[in-house]
Amino acid sequence: MAAYEYETHDYDVVVVGAGGAGLRATLGMAEQGLRTACVTKVFPTRSHTVAAQGGIAASLSNMGPDNWQWHMYDTVKGSDWLGDTDAMEYLAREAPKAVYELEHYGVPFSRTEEGKIYQRPFGGHTTEFGEGPPVQRTCAAADRTGHAILHTLYGQSLKNNAEFYIEYFAIDLIMSEDGQCQGVVCWKLDDGTMHVFNAKMVVLATGGYGRAYFSATSAHTCTGDGGGMVARQGLALQDMEFVQFHPTGIYGSGCLITEGARGEGGYLTNSKGERFMERYAPNYKDLAPRDYVSRCMTMEIREGRGVGAGGDHIHLNLSHLPADALAERLPGISESAKIFAGVNVNKEPIPVLPTVHYNMGGIPTNYFGEVLNPTAKDPNAVVPGLMAVGEAGCASVHGANRLGSNSLIDLVVFGRAAAIRAGKVVDAEAVPAALNQASVDFAFDRFDGLRNASGATPTAELRLEMQKTMQEDAAVFRTDKTLKEGVEKMTNVASKVDDLKVTDRSLVWNSDLMETLELTNLMPNALATIVGAEARKESRGAHAHEDYATRDDENWRVHTISRVDGKNVALSHRPVVTDPLTTEADGGISLKKIAPKERTF
Ligand SMILES: Cc1cc2nc3c(=O)[nH]c(=O)nc-3n(C[C@H](O)[C@H](O)[C@H](O)COP(=O)(O)OP(=O)(O)OC[C@H]3O[C@@H](n4cnc5c(N)ncnc54)[C@H](O)[C@@H]3O)c2cc1C
Repeated sequence: MAAYEYETHDYDVVVVGAGGAGLRATLGMAEQGLRTACVTKVFPTRSHTVAAQGGIAASLSNMGPDNWQWHMYDTVKGSDWLGDTDAMEYLAREAPKAVYELEHYGVPFSRTEEGKIYQRPFGGHTTEFGEGPPVQRTCAAADRTGHAILHTLYGQSLKNNAEFYIEYFAIDLIMSEDGQCQGVVCWKLDDGTMHVFNAKMVVLATGGYGRAYFSATSAHTCTGDGGGMVARQGLALQDMEFVQFHPTGIYGSGCLITEGARGEGGYLTNSKGERFMERYAPNYKDLAPRDYVSRCMTMEIREGRGVGAGGDHIHLNLSHLPADALAERLPGISESAKIFAGVNVNKEPIPVLPTVHYNMGGIPTNYFGEVLNPTAKDPNAVVPGLMAVGEAGCASVHGANRLGSNSLIDLVVFGRAAAIRAGKVVDAEAVPAALNQASVDFAFDRFDGLRNASGATPTAELRLEMQKTMQEDAAVFRTDKTLKEGVEKMTNVASKVDDLKVTDRSLVWNSDLMETLELTNLMPNALATIVGAEARKESRGAHAHEDYATRDDENWRVHTISRVDGKNVALSHRPVVTDPLTTEADGGISLKKIAPKERTF
């Protein structure tokens, strides 16, 4: 057994993660007087939420008629009827309250002439249950909405005496023998000390796992650590096969190039210089929907018409546009292309690749944020002492596909909901429970095993192999053949975790070891994604399956539940919640309105 000295900290609540979701939960807990710690591996305001530009959806009707029922309908349709109806109602209903709270906390939203919160149009957000014109529902603080939210929530959390443990890396959960979460084991990155947090409630707010892929718009820190921790306890992940791709991430860095680049007249070409989108989508060409464009780009690459030395990406051309138009309308893009691709957009095309942008799947929860451990008998059984919020969780409001600006609102609505729930279930007077020492030892043993790993495969090498496999075989465009091959390859990749080689054995700022821990978290997320995708014999939302081109509600309107054990994934299903919280008689949405139908645009 590995012997590490550690310091023990007792709290009512420990939140792991300081992005939008983690900070909103932390603030809500602390406001109620719960002794709350927030543990984060990066400085709070460096969490990926800081990169969110576009905005946050809520039916404030500041720019024209809108209501929560319309927002709910759009979310249901956006999810391609895989979201849980109770959670989607909760999201749409609570969204305005959550945004006004942000306003009162001090988020500097952009304003209308009359001083109201400014709202802009976003894809998929409509009026009249999809029958009316687009709605302006997305509240924005210029193009820095995530930045503004994070800074405000961090300040408010400090004001309410939440305690921050910054640059602490959470290694594993501590679970009692009877399956209650008791806390979390952490490694302090800057001095190498070890810390055990004993908590009555642990909230996982660790963000997405975009970095399981070669090209992702998300930060390098988005490594699905919460999902990894949950999987190692034999708990469930849900709907992992649903991964949202954006057509134009910069090749290599994955930095996002907005759809606005094509809106302003940019177009894609292959190695023959051909504008191939004209062939696939004669009407909309380069402005066809995101998932469709991504699929066409992948087909071009697969058929040998990709650009570059490896023939593995596509060109986005802007150089035909007038220089002053580029400078005026796309200054940020011109700068990103310069920095991340070394390209002058006035002269050269930008190398781009369909890029992973968001994980719809995650740790299953109810709409209070409580983590579920679905069994055949009780698909909604709760894991005591454990919550998950934000992109790490799966409430499930995004189902098979997320609408733009519905993630930021998910963070604050469910961060807030988790705090409300914790206020009811956490007994601040109770003495801290005795920790299950076996569970603490497990975490230290695993840590020590990786620290001294002396196999033959360097972490960076195995990570690249995983990323390339996921990029190729669990892509936008999926077939039985590619998925079957992908599962075989990923099973092989996952088995090499036992052969990892870590060269730095120190405990202070050991990025080799930290990246290894992250790789062991990415791996179960990646495996569950590809195995879930292989099993789902239909097309729904982001899961576009060439061999099963249509949605199959009769057999597949179910959540995929995966339990990952090493390189093995066991799949089962959990029914989709189809009942809303309120009936039409209570002012709720009409069931007829949200009944499944074909998703057309
Ligand atoms: C470029 C980009 C633009 C986007 N734009 C929009 C937009 O305009 N509108 C919208 O709605 N959505 C947008 N999204 C999606 C949205 O921003 C994210 O889904 C959301 O910010 C995720 O927030 P989070 O709080 O769940 O996690 P994150 O913000 O990713 O934070 C995760 C936190 O967990 C901590 N953490 C993780 N692992 C550990 C560990 N092992 N130990 C300790 N701490 C850990 C990290 O330190 C961090 O604080 C965008 C996403 C990207 C990538």
